[in-house]
Amino acid sequence: MNVPCPTCGKPAALSVDNPYRPFCGERCKLADLGSWLNGDYRLPVSDAESDTEAPDP
Ligand SMILES: [Zn+2]
Repeated sequence: MNVPCPTCGKPAALSVDNPYRPFCGERCKLADLGSWLNGDYRLPVSDAESDTEAPDP
């Protein structure tokens, strides 16, 4: 069974043989993770830390 890769839209195997499912490969999985880290998705985290630019200890 194939599903469109959420990142690039190419068919991705949705099977245990594909460790990167539902992505087509490692690159697309990492790209999706990167978009999370870049803030494309907002996580319900407290912004107390991100708003405060505390100097490094
Ligand atoms: Zn892909």
